[in-house]
Amino acid sequence: MSDNDDFRAKLLLVLGNRAKLYCEFCEIVGLWKEGLGVRCCHRQPLDPQPEDIQREDRFRRRNAPFFDFGTPENPDSGNNSRLNPRLRDDDRFREQAREVENGNERLGRLFGIKGESVLALLDSILFPWSFPPDYMHLILLGLLRKLHKILKGQAFGHQGAVDELELLLLDDEIWAIIGTDQKGSSASYPTDFGEAFNIDKVWSGMKAANWYSWAIQQVLIYLHAELRTADEYEFLKKVVFAVELASRRSLSWEEVDQLEILLRDVVDYVELNVYRCMDERLSICKPTFHQCRQHVVHGIRMCGPMPVYWQMNMEQKIGSLGMDTYHRYR
Ligand SMILES: [Zn+2]
Repeated sequence: MSDNDDFRAKLLLVLGNRAKLYCEFCEIVGLWKEGLGVRCCHRQPLDPQPEDIQREDRFRRRNAPFFDFGTPENPDSGNNSRLNPRLRDDDRFREQAREVENGNERLGRLFGIKGESVLALLDSILFPWSFPPDYMHLILLGLLRKLHKILKGQAFGHQGAVDELELLLLDDEIWAIIGTDQKGSSASYPTDFGEAFNIDKVWSGMKAANWYSWAIQQVLIYLHAELRTADEYEFLKKVVFAVELASRRSLSWEEVDQLEILLRDVVDYVELNVYRCMDERLSICKPTFHQCRQHVVHGIRMCGPMPVYWQMNMEQKIGSLGMDTYHRYR
């Protein structure tokens, strides 16, 4: 059973991805930022703001989950085991949910759990792994769209400011040229390749199938000569290989290990080269990157290749229901 973050949060009765404990798969703690909410960085900012340090310390003194800034000598102290957070398992998840259900709401904030899901009545449910990450939402509509936002220079929202060191950034004119070329090729675009589209015009509303086509068939060709450094292109190759491996219905254990390394490399590259551990860039640290880095492969090891439980088939059925009803009653 799998779906998008909000739906899964309701099903599992967890606080969801806007809580300090934003992840149902592990006990990582996010950093609360004024105006942004919880940020999901694995590496703390190197220029932490005094108000953030004080706020997190207030959380600590209230015995609430807090983001441990550690010390300059040991930035990975305390709950900053963010690169290897404690995973939740079925026993612990059920026990914590029961404690919250028994009336201790304060513990809910500490555990990131709202209460006991009705599904806890079923012994066959394995919390949280009966709800593994979804390929369509997390990889296609999540990771690829967020990376594209970075490539468009729109990743930092109102905090603005890309600078001269920026990697993974292409000018608007380049996107316009790519879009025009895609449009010009639409008449000869093979149907088997999927639907033709103009990424420059439609990227913010692109469907999962379009993102898959973009990643597997087009991005490495269109961006081959457009990025500033060879490393950026190597990064894109890792993204494409990861998307392709994650889409397979059959994987060897070696390929699963390979996917784990690829996804870690991809997210670490974004953290080190785009977020750059700068406070003003924390806005790009979303749960999507955390789930890709930490939990996609764990989900595959627990439940099998992602297409076995992806949401695509269910959404296609839901999409066709309106048409079925239309024809039946017309
Ligand atoms: Zn996690």
